[in-house]
Amino acid sequence: MSAVLTPKDFATATPSWWCPGCGDFGVLAALKSALADLGKNPKDVAFVSGIGCSGKISGYIHSYAFHGVHGRALPVATAVKLANRDLTVIAAGGDGDGYAIGAGHFIHAVRRNPDVTYIVMDNQTYGLTKGQSSPTSQTGYVTGTSPNGHPEAPINGLAVALSAGATFLARGFSAHPKQLVELLKTAIAHKGFSVVEVESPCVTYNKINTYAWFKENVFYLDDSHDASDKVAAFKMMMHEEKMPLGVFYKHDRPTLEDLALKDQTPVAKVELNGDLRRFASIQEAYR
Ligand code: SF4
Repeated sequence: MSAVLTPKDFATATPSWWCPGCGDFGVLAALKSALADLGKNPKDVAFVSGIGCSGKISGYIHSYAFHGVHGRALPVATAVKLANRDLTVIAAGGDGDGYAIGAGHFIHAVRRNPDVTYIVMDNQTYGLTKGQSSPTSQTGYVTGTSPNGHPEAPINGLAVALSAGATFLARGFSAHPKQLVELLKTAIAHKGFSVVEVESPCVTYNKINTYAWFKENVFYLDDSHDASDKVAAFKMMMHEEKMPLGVFYKHDRPTLEDLALKDQTPVAKVELNGDLRRFASIQEAYR
């Protein structure tokens, strides 16, 4: 019988780079708990991240890891899944990484539906580069590069994904660990592309969307919400007064690997494990 793993089995010795109080700590803790609760083993998990504060997360999870370039986590994660369907593949990045430079990859990953979980750690700012406005910043957000207030409207990434053919869309809050663990477990267990947007405050630069702001402005979808109803999901995503949390939409359809690999022989399956291990050690060397 294999040993029961705990969240500690998914920890690495890499010192954290994040500021004390950063919301990303909550995402990391919830993710480790979700993987342990699901009975996953680090050798069965591949983690791919983009650039940004949140992109550092791939170094803090004991698993195969690839810390890629800005906005490119999803094509890499899709390729990993196609190469080895036995791996649990998780990609993560911030709102800038996923909804700005990576927006094209995001939409196409959604419509392809690989069995990959994508976590968008949304802090409504570019934290790594000292707090500029991001695609989810509120209109009027004042920064060093927008001293008169950010003039653009924020993007609604989940609503964009819904229209692109998403099969699983959810939102959580990094300061609600119990609910976030359950959301992540449901997303990872979903067969298909699952998107979990996690509100993850940047305590250093974003003085608007703070923990206190979220606590005032979020609420959970209740049992009256039908997650199979696309129109109902869209209406909740577009809620104007507050920010709903929970599973908005869930739908089953064949995955990319089901369709793309169905007639291929096992010879077509590439064993990536060795390469991923090599990437992880390179990443460690440059940390
Ligand atoms: Fe977190 Fe913001 Fe610090 Fe980046 S700058 S680590 S997002 S608190």
